[in-house]
Amino acid sequence: MRESGCKGCSASVRLKQSEVDRILADYLRENPAPLVSDVTYADRLRVCRDCSQLQYGTTCSHCGCLVQVMAKLRDKHCPAPQAPAW
Ligand code: SF4
Repeated sequence: MRESGCKGCSASVRLKQSEVDRILADYLRENPAPLVSDVTYADRLRVCRDCSQLQYGTTCSHCGCLVQVMAKLRDKHCPAPQAPAW
């Protein structure tokens, strides 16, 4: 299997920033929800970037979520089972 390939389909697991931005915009359009401030969003993403559970720069290995989407939502939290980071 290609190192960058998804196990379930032929898509790449590595996303460009433009693709992440489009996914976030599409998600928020279809799922209106309370958001965090820009400062909180940046803080959450900074924690994720330093976390050993982050894969490919975008994906949390605990939940398979794109952290750039999950971190934007006020009611979402880091899914680490022992010590959620945010
Ligand atoms: S959501 Fe939590 S466990 Fe997942 S990458 Fe971010 S800090 Fe790490």
